[in-house]
Amino acid sequence: MVHNPETIKRFEESLRRQERQLEQSMLSAVEQGREVAADAALDAADQAVQSYQKEMLFSQGTSGHEQLSLVRLALKRLDEGTYGDCIHCGKTIGLKRLEALPWTPYCIDCREKIENGEIEDPVRAA
Ligand SMILES: [Zn+2]
Repeated sequence: MVHNPETIKRFEESLRRQERQLEQSMLSAVEQGREVAADAALDAADQAVQSYQKEMLFSQGTSGHEQLSLVRLALKRLDEGTYGDCIHCGKTIGLKRLEALPWTPYCIDCREKIENGEIEDPVRAA
């Protein structure tokens, strides 16, 4: 890794904080989903609203889950000493980009290629 240890430490702290927050918000999303599902005596209109809410909660849970796996992957790369390097091309990810997206496994070039479908996203494919 090319970035200096103090910078890396700062990213590690923010990633760990984020990991905790995501774990907590996912737990509460699941609990809310259960409460919604458990509430039985409803008329049709209420049920429609509730099933919509349930879907929202579950989809939030899903994207939270993806986010959490990215954060955990970043923490793993911190342990391995490869944090800050693009997992596709190995180039150092710019500091500004890491500050905005500390969990990102890709440099800006590879991210664009993934969005354009030029290369496969191994994180999503995994
Ligand atoms: Zn790259």
